[in-house]
Amino acid sequence: MKLLLVLSLILTAALLVVSFAGAAELAPNELGRVMILEYHKIDYPEERWTRTPENFRRDLETLYAKGYRLINLGDLLDRRIALRAGTTPVVLTFDDSSPGQFRYIEANGSVQIDPKSAVGILEAFIAEKPDFGRGGTFYVLPGASKPNRLFNQPEYEGRKLQYLVSHGYEIGNHTLWHANLAKYPEATVRAQVAEAQVWIQRHVPDYRTRTLALPHGAYPTDVSWVLRGSAKGMNYSHDALLMVAGGAAPSPFSRTFDPTRLPRIQAVERDLAYWLNYFDKNPGERFVSDGDANAVTVPTARRDRLRDELPHPLKVVERGPERPEPPVLTVTQDSSARGAGRAGRVR
Ligand SMILES: [Zn+2]
Repeated sequence: MKLLLVLSLILTAALLVVSFAGAAELAPNELGRVMILEYHKIDYPEERWTRTPENFRRDLETLYAKGYRLINLGDLLDRRIALRAGTTPVVLTFDDSSPGQFRYIEANGSVQIDPKSAVGILEAFIAEKPDFGRGGTFYVLPGASKPNRLFNQPEYEGRKLQYLVSHGYEIGNHTLWHANLAKYPEATVRAQVAEAQVWIQRHVPDYRTRTLALPHGAYPTDVSWVLRGSAKGMNYSHDALLMVAGGAAPSPFSRTFDPTRLPRIQAVERDLAYWLNYFDKNPGERFVSDGDANAVTVPTARRDRLRDELPHPLKVVERGPERPEPPVLTVTQDSSARGAGRAGRVR
């Protein structure tokens, strides 16, 4: 019995080493794609638009083990990705401000974040794994009816929004009450977007929503209506518009990166598994950081995919073609074999 336990511990340790080595082996490629994950309800039972707290926690564990690290959407848009070499950025988004995303509970006379709500789960995981990073954008509905109005606890609305902003999360615009923007004239579209920000600013003065997640993924007749303007006495401007589907996003350094059409991956069991498996099988398609926020490392063969204009002071570093993989039989556990994937790296 004891022997079995020891053996299983050794096996677990070995698997951990292998998975870490696997993540560390990835050569930098900052033209690879980035997953923007889209969560809705964190609640029971698991279904089309609901992830259970346990499954959400498991998603974080899986992402971490596979070398993904949290960044905020704003960092992606600013093309400022400060991650350790060999890791991959991932963005979390939460739509519709449903109760399970952020809940306070009262216990023994004190108020605390429900450890089974998304924010509680995230905070606990980040405390355990500080190098996972921190981030996430909450696309809230300030004027929706229950239970989607600002996480459904009127007495804590302000406290929650202030908590998000002061703890490294972002608040995003999702219109005032989830209006299908394709159906409305310009004045209504502008009012929906501006008023959402007015309501958010009642709790977080001067907070500007940088991004808008389109309800139902529906674009207004003219996209410029939601990008910038003024209504209800409020100026607004959005740097990005998020869709509800579309797969992994292009690298922000790529020519094909279009902030007005940012695709997302719905974080449900099947879709998430598909994309994690896709990047496991196609590591060359995955954004892998070079560890230097001021450099963009790109495989030479893909240099033409780089966009023309890059923000100062970014410099481009080319990474030459990789050496062919050594035959499997000669691979040993020494460091030279593990380093083979980085051959030709110019730094
Ligand atoms: Zn929505």
